[in-house]
Amino acid sequence: MAKRDYYEVLGIDRGAVNAAIKKAYRNLAMQYHPDRNPGDGEAAEKMKEVNEAYAVLSDSHKRRLYDTYGHAGLEDYSQDDLFRGVDFSSLFREFGLGDIFGFGDSIFDGFFGRRTTSRKGPRKGADLRYNLSLTLEDVAFGVEKTIELPRTDTCKSCNGTGAEPGGLEQCDSCQGTGQIVKEQRSGHSVFRQISGCSNCRGSGSIVKEACKHCEGKGVIQEIEEMEVTIPAGADNRYAIRIDGKGERGDDLPGDLYIVLLVEKHPVFERHGDDLYVQKDVSFTAAALGGEVEVPSLDGDITLDIPEGTQTGSVFRIDGQGVTRLEGTGKGDEYVIVRVVTPTDLGQKETDLLRKFEELRRKSGDSER
Ligand SMILES: [Zn+2]
Ligand SMILES: [Zn+2]
Repeated sequence: MAKRDYYEVLGIDRGAVNAAIKKAYRNLAMQYHPDRNPGDGEAAEKMKEVNEAYAVLSDSHKRRLYDTYGHAGLEDYSQDDLFRGVDFSSLFREFGLGDIFGFGDSIFDGFFGRRTTSRKGPRKGADLRYNLSLTLEDVAFGVEKTIELPRTDTCKSCNGTGAEPGGLEQCDSCQGTGQIVKEQRSGHSVFRQISGCSNCRGSGSIVKEACKHCEGKGVIQEIEEMEVTIPAGADNRYAIRIDGKGERGDDLPGDLYIVLLVEKHPVFERHGDDLYVQKDVSFTAAALGGEVEVPSLDGDITLDIPEGTQTGSVFRIDGQGVTRLEGTGKGDEYVIVRVVTPTDLGQKETDLLRKFEELRRKSGDSER
């Protein structure tokens, strides 16, 4: 498929100044951000297109190339190159879309284009993912959770060597170089073959006395406890990023993504900020109307149903839904009525119903 014009994607004219580009991008991000379109693949695609257009047009060098040669001007740029230099997460934070964004199956696929660390920039450790199970009540009201994060750390006792002090000896096989060099003569040529020493696994030394602290592994497993604040209104598959809590890198640590997995609720079904609940009502109560008790997240509340309520009727209770993550207030609760026919009639009840049936027939006849 041919790529669309970047200016057209952002809906701006070719002379647009940086502020106008950002403003256009902001509006489109608000519209297509996965937060606002959970599970919508089309919106995600749209967002990707918008991200790319913004990445190019907000960079003066890339923009000049694009202005002069069109898409062909950026042909040599990989997807990573196109996106390099734009910090989308801080942009979203600025837009109020925050550190929280909806993810698909993989947190790194799709949304940002491909996510890799820049070859030129500092080398970051891998990002980590932590799945956190929550109830609907947790995310509806917000909650503080303590999570236990297993971490691997260099053993401080032996500095990662795995040996007790003085327990390290030079490897005899490679004389401490970690490499084995083999020379082979063939006519006038000499071939040198260099391979890693298998005796010391290339480290050049042998552990004679294992470190007691880490049992010679050089690393220790630790559990790090961490407090996480779940904001009211978060939803299933949203993620919270905690900077610098991923794996240690050569220069910088990666980030930790806490992915929220909200369990199915036995009573309520959630759609966006709204809650849906089914309420069984006896056929007499449905016919006569009146007050019925319905569950809400704050406990039972009274709902007035009118005379002649039918099965499948839906009633809205304002403000009894989930707190809105963005904006103010709460969603609504929708009560779907199911009229239940009794199956355990006593003799007296049966007699009354027969009488009722007779009356209905008579009144029907007289009306005709
Ligand atoms: Zn150790
Ligand atoms: Zn060796």
